[in-house]
Amino acid sequence: METRDLYQDIILDHGRKPRNFHAMEHPSHFAHGHNPLCGDRITIYLELADGRVKDVSFEGRGCAISTASASLMTEVLKGKTLAEADALFKAFHAEVMGTEIPPVPEPLQDDFERLAPLEGVKAYPARVKCATLAWHAFETALKSGAVGATVKTE
Ligand code: ZN
Repeated sequence: METRDLYQDIILDHGRKPRNFHAMEHPSHFAHGHNPLCGDRITIYLELADGRVKDVSFEGRGCAISTASASLMTEVLKGKTLAEADALFKAFHAEVMGTEIPPVPEPLQDDFERLAPLEGVKAYPARVKCATLAWHAFETALKSGAVGATVKTE
């Protein structure tokens, strides 16, 4: 199977059967993300403890790319320190923007590779917002805590 087809399959699979797809009753942090260009709406829930992402989940409605990206994000973020999460976000953001990817620390390389199915969006600027929506909502959740906030991609 070609890598391109494999990546397509992973996106479709996560788009149809998103992982960690549920609301959290008492999140320590949460935020809504809205991508008006495509109509994607997503809520990210976090439970942070001792500077780590103890648990992360999401819910919402959106296209296959935004849903798959959120699903993959929850998988790689679980158990990460905030510094590790930030390093993954920066590397992923650069990858889908088609800019120079900062060095990814060795322990995070497997996680970064799991996000690779989304790299194809860099050829489609409008889809980049679908792919990064969950990550922007994650970042907003870190800042807004249990109060929540909304981030819009423009
Ligand atoms: Zn979308």
